[in-house]
Amino acid sequence: MAVNEHPRRTPLIAGNWKMNLDHLQAIAFVQKLAWNLKDAKHDVAAVEVAVFPPFTDLRSVQTLVSADKLPIVFGGQDVSAQDSGAYTGEISGAFLAQLECKYVLIGHSERRTLHAETDEIVSAKVTAALKHNLVPIICVGESAADLELHGPSAVPVAQLRAALAGVTNAADFVVAYEPVWAIGSGKAATPEQAEQVAAQLRLVLTETLGQDVADKTRILYGGSVKGSNIAGFMREPNVDGALVGGASLDIDEFSSIVRFQQHVGL
Ligand code: PEP
Repeated sequence: MAVNEHPRRTPLIAGNWKMNLDHLQAIAFVQKLAWNLKDAKHDVAAVEVAVFPPFTDLRSVQTLVSADKLPIVFGGQDVSAQDSGAYTGEISGAFLAQLECKYVLIGHSERRTLHAETDEIVSAKVTAALKHNLVPIICVGESAADLELHGPSAVPVAQLRAALAGVTNAADFVVAYEPVWAIGSGKAATPEQAEQVAAQLRLVLTETLGQDVADKTRILYGGSVKGSNIAGFMREPNVDGALVGGASLDIDEFSSIVRFQQHVGL
């Protein structure tokens, strides 16, 4: 099969803005992105486009997307494991769902390292997201030290198994393989490295949730993805899209990533 033509998996290009762009900048960004996509006659059925703004931008992005019926979906960068109550600073999945978020990032390496999120916390957040009808994007990946000690797959495989502890085969979720050493470093994994780990992650899905779930679940690659390297990843049979950090803040670069099919001559 050529470039990710799996009939049951629509590629997803997701932009994680991290703590960048306030709500006014977010409005301008999403308007321009939508314009770029329209100009390029982007086929929304062929590649799904998602942005992950800071929480304080979400209401503005929702209002714009819904009023102008833009072909862009959006989500939160994190979610609380709790529904409501005395959890200062936390954001409930119920609130995200009310703002029409489709997705939520869970277990990003910056949450795992800077906020000490354990596999147990990640699993609880995945359960909370599903409870509120959000599609979790479960982020997994090995550090440079893990890579040296255990090879590329061991840590992401263990993280995925743990994250799926409370998940049934009825759940809709996405997996993002993000080698920590590739995030923000400018040094992406090779497409072969990404494929090797993505294939192992798909095996985990088969073993834990069955073949149907493994066939339909999208596995993204993330780590220094740019317009110039996306096509290589998308040629791999087990890579169904990308989670993009730095390059998602540059409208032209992000638009170029979304339009990866043109880079590969489809
Ligand atoms: C990320 O933050 O998830 C990420 C992949 O960042 P970058 O694309 O900048 O490496």
